Parts: sequence; C-alpha cells; structure tokens
Amino acid sequence: MTPNDNSLTPADMTQAERQRDGLTTLRPTRAEAEAAIDVLIRWLGEDPSREGLRDTPARVVRAWEEFCSGYYEDPAAFLPSVLEEVEGYDDMVMLRQIRIESHCEHHLVPILGSAHIAYMPDRRVVGISKLARVIDSFARRLQTQETLTAQVAETIQSVLEPQGVAILIDAQHQCMTTRGVRKPDVSMVTTRFTGVFQTDTNLQRRFLEQARLG
Ligand code: ZN
Repeated sequence: MTPNDNSLTPADMTQAERQRDGLTTLRPTRAEAEAAIDVLIRWLGEDPSREGLRDTPARVVRAWEEFCSGYYEDPAAFLPSVLEEVEGYDDMVMLRQIRIESHCEHHLVPILGSAHIAYMPDRRVVGISKLARVIDSFARRLQTQETLTAQVAETIQSVLEPQGVAILIDAQHQCMTTRGVRKPDVSMVTTRFTGVFQTDTNLQRRFLEQARLG
C-alpha cells in the first residue's frame, strides 16, 4: 500500500494487494461470509428467517469489516515522513488513556482497555494524534494483547527513530470476563520498551508512574 493512502476498503483491494499485505490468498465473497453467519445462527438453535434475525448476517459482516479495518491500512503510513524540529524540549512526550478496541484472535470477542505511550524525541516530534492512529490501526485486527503492544512500539521506533519508545496497555478480555473463568474485574497489563526506555531504569520508572496516574 502506498503511504498516505489509508482509505482502501477490502472490496477495493486486488488479490495482489491482499497477498502483498499477507492476507489470505483466497478471500471468500461477502455472500459466503454472510452464509457462515447464517450457519452459526442456525447452529445456535435460532430461526434465521424470523423478523429480528433476517438482516443479521449482513449486519454482522459489515460490523466485522469495521472491527477489522486495520488489515487494509498501513499503520506506518500514519506517521509523517518529515517530523517537526523542536528546540529547547528534551524530555519524553507521553500520550495517556488512548482507548483500545480490539478483538482476541482466540475467541473473536472484544479486548477493551487503554494504552499509554511515550517516546523520547531525538530533536524531532510528531503530532500526537498520529500515534493514536497507529494504535487503532493495529488494534482493528484479530489480536493478542502481547502482539499489539509489540507491534505498536516497534513501528513507532522504526519509522520515527526516536531515542526510545515506551508503551503500556491495560485491557480487559471479554473471553475472560464474560465467559470461561468469568473474572469480571481482571485486566491484563503488557509493556514494551525500546531504546533509552529499555536502558534507563529511571526513565522507565517515570513512564510507569505517569501511566499509573489514571
Ligand atoms: Zn480470547
């Protein structure tokens, strides 16, 4: 995908583009996806022809298209190739409480929580909304929290090349809170540090203290 073109929808993509992005080579049609939801509804013991369920397969497929729209974006493309120079600022830049909405790849149920992210600029800074876009783009896929955390940190590190990146994600997995062991209050915390956040324990502690504020 070309940089700054984040608006492709699944239907717009050619088979070649999907292959290049590592997506499945034989993508089923929308009708096949809707038929699969119809099977699930019948398997649950419901009648898919009743009023309330008649349009459900189409709605579910459209919803999943939105939940997983990150597959059709290049997260790195949200980061500008030219950064703004800063003078007189030499401390970490931190973005707190970024909403995380993702889906667990094991059960296809929501992972909901928040992320705190910081980077140590190397003379140059990036608009903070861009970092949130990177997180969103990786979150809107089937994920594990560990992978999501690592992907965001590595992408920001490799594209922006700051002195270091720190990220903490605190999220609840509905596969654990509403089914299985049913522990409604449990949240999972994952972190990833690169560069100076990895080598400087004081800096790492400052990041964690800021993240814990709320
Ligand atoms: Zn799960």
